[in-house]
Amino acid sequence: MSAYRAAELAAWDHAYVWHPFTQMQEWLAEEPLIIARGEGAYLIDVSGKRYLDGVSSLWCNVHGHRHPELDRALREQSEQIAHSTLLGLANVPSIELAKQLVEMAPPGLTRVFYSDAGATAVEIALKMALQYWQLRDEGQRTRFVALTESYHGDTLGAVSVGYSETFHRFFKPVLFPSHRLNPPHVYRWQRGLSEQDALDAALTEADSLLRGKRDEIAAVIIEPLMQGAAGMWSQPPGYVRALRQLTRVNGLLLICDEVATGFGRTGEMFAVEHEQVTPDLMCVGKGITGGYLPLAATFATEEIFRAFLAPYEDFTAFFHGHTYTGNALACAVALANLRVFENERVLENVHRRTRQLQERLTDIAALPHVGDIRRWGLMTGIELVRNRDTRHPFDASDRVGMRTIAAARRRGVILRPLGNVIVLMPPLCITGDELDFLCSVTREAIAKATEAF
Ligand SMILES: *Cc1c(COP(=O)(O)O)cnc(C)c1O
Repeated sequence: MSAYRAAELAAWDHAYVWHPFTQMQEWLAEEPLIIARGEGAYLIDVSGKRYLDGVSSLWCNVHGHRHPELDRALREQSEQIAHSTLLGLANVPSIELAKQLVEMAPPGLTRVFYSDAGATAVEIALKMALQYWQLRDEGQRTRFVALTESYHGDTLGAVSVGYSETFHRFFKPVLFPSHRLNPPHVYRWQRGLSEQDALDAALTEADSLLRGKRDEIAAVIIEPLMQGAAGMWSQPPGYVRALRQLTRVNGLLLICDEVATGFGRTGEMFAVEHEQVTPDLMCVGKGITGGYLPLAATFATEEIFRAFLAPYEDFTAFFHGHTYTGNALACAVALANLRVFENERVLENVHRRTRQLQERLTDIAALPHVGDIRRWGLMTGIELVRNRDTRHPFDASDRVGMRTIAAARRRGVILRPLGNVIVLMPPLCITGDELDFLCSVTREAIAKATEAF
């Protein structure tokens, strides 16, 4: 692309586009990096410069950009039909995809409700839970239990359960109340406790809250294994399983939000498989189309599904839908995504790359301002601290997260931090050499960004 055209696009971006999760005052003061193409694990900008996509285009890319199988699926479906509604009609790829999703999901999740974003998949799970209890004549169960600093998306229902002070304080006045549980995360939240003691403390608290309030609770909602947007707060083995037991003995629903962890990210297809858990409702998004198109799904058990069945005139249908629910292009690409998982033995690559990553992270852990590294599969958070002994954090004004990603970008790697936590979340197709490159650039970038402190 000509330099003139690139400059024109940059000016138009500044003139017209409001970017998500972005302080636009700062954005407008800098040249935007404009992506024109992709190739495997790389993004290519308008001037032809290549960058390793170190966070999978915000956690959703799986097999790389321009994967021939996914490209072909998109092309072939576009020659049939791009979209027709699922309200009162069915379409070919959404049927095939639902069947495959159910066959691969944890046993007992038998029904798929489509939507188009992680947040909508969560809204659907919350509304299904509420309506389910009303249909069971237990309509007093209206409260949700969520983990402190959990993230479930940015629509108001999802924000009510997954509240972050930094992201959501302006909306607090209109959010519905939820009960909060302390997560078993050790480094920031249950400070000074051992992993075992943090796990015990979290479960003791959960047991007492769920027992005490069980008549008013509709469901417990969690991000299993890893609270992503909180800053990659990992949960020790046993936590999800124990919460499943607690919700079961108290007769409560468990909703697992696998929007970030689903589709191989943690080394199993779904994170709950590490704990042999079947939730009552499960939300997936991000990786479902390999990172190509907006699609999400909420899985439900047969028991929940059956509670909604009644004659038309009872009006107990689930009155929820989106214009693009079950979009044919997105479902066709999602089917290709699943085929590639199998044909290319993607989970085996995830296991190999996970071992390699674990090794390479020891160099990074040795840097003086790296306080903690948390990882499940290829989902990693590196927490930078001003003082490693006291765990004293950097101030927001130190901008170490931003400085680290700027230094990484100069070296050809795209990252995006969560405050002072550097996230590594490469596409699952990443090769050994690419992963080495990602880790060495991350190490240099952290060293550079923290050298003044
Ligand atoms: C990203 C994310 C969401 C929201 O998904 P969107 O597609 O951005 O709406 C919900 N839950 C978790 C755990 C996520 O990581």
